[in-house]
Amino acid sequence: MKHLVSPYLLAGHSIAPGSQKNFELPAFRLPTQTMISLPISVIHGQKPGPTLGLCAAIHGNEINGIESIRRITEKLDPKNLSGTVICVPVVNVYGFMSDSRYLPDGRDLNRSFPGSNRGSMASRLAFLFRTEVIERCDHVIDFHTASSGKKNHPQIRCDLTHQSSFNLAKVFAAPLIVHSKTISGSLRECAASTDCSMLVYESGEPSRFNQRSVQIAVEGCFRVMRRLKMVTKDPEAKKGKSVICEETRWIRASRSGIFLSHVDLGDRVKNHQIIGSINNIFGKPLSNIRSPYAGVLVGISTHPSVHQGDALIHIGKQNPSL
Ligand SMILES: [Zn+2]
Repeated sequence: MKHLVSPYLLAGHSIAPGSQKNFELPAFRLPTQTMISLPISVIHGQKPGPTLGLCAAIHGNEINGIESIRRITEKLDPKNLSGTVICVPVVNVYGFMSDSRYLPDGRDLNRSFPGSNRGSMASRLAFLFRTEVIERCDHVIDFHTASSGKKNHPQIRCDLTHQSSFNLAKVFAAPLIVHSKTISGSLRECAASTDCSMLVYESGEPSRFNQRSVQIAVEGCFRVMRRLKMVTKDPEAKKGKSVICEETRWIRASRSGIFLSHVDLGDRVKNHQIIGSINNIFGKPLSNIRSPYAGVLVGISTHPSVHQGDALIHIGKQNPSL
């Protein structure tokens, strides 16, 4: 028996079953009266199924997800899709254009949820994105990179105690799953207050496409879509298993100087192992950096010049029992 699927309606647009439509959702005007709008792509399947949201560049300069979403949509065939995929490859459009994490009012969009249609620019944009996109979704994958001056090993951040999100994180199978409690005002906190399960994928550094990060993101998303029975074929994914870190710690510079790392992303380190040093400008070592426990490298600073207290190396402690 053939299931009947209705056209998908979003922001005045109608997307027929088995088709894809790209359009713009007006968001706010610049002082010049130029309208800033969110690019949206809806892929509406021929068959019924869940709604999956894919969004990137909530932090405008974290752009790996833009390329990940492009490659996912390129491989998705709406005729063979069950359910609907709503893609917003750039949420913070202003930040993307100005290569900035923030909005022009200096606010962080990912600290502005759930938002309000009577609040600041960031709050209004959060409100628009939440009400028009997020609240329609059963599951959301939000793509990020490290912040400025750092890079991250490919990882899913989720609250390991939120069972549906943790289960989906294991299906995604990035090299790492890192336990992280929700941050106040974040999209993840907003989703956690609803039935929506949400994954945050973090990989690479700002303002760069990193092909390995993108490839892992595409493979992970297809694994998730296959588990949700949205696709039957899996064009990318091989089986994978994540290292699960229940705790992480940033090692900070004990003094100012030139930071030299002896390790790189994903490396395993031993307890008390020397993993880097801080030298003076003539190359004389001033202090060694030791790992506080046995673990795996989650993130690292990309700036050699450091001040005392700067975050240098992010190490995760594995929980092999999870
Ligand atoms: Zn981010």
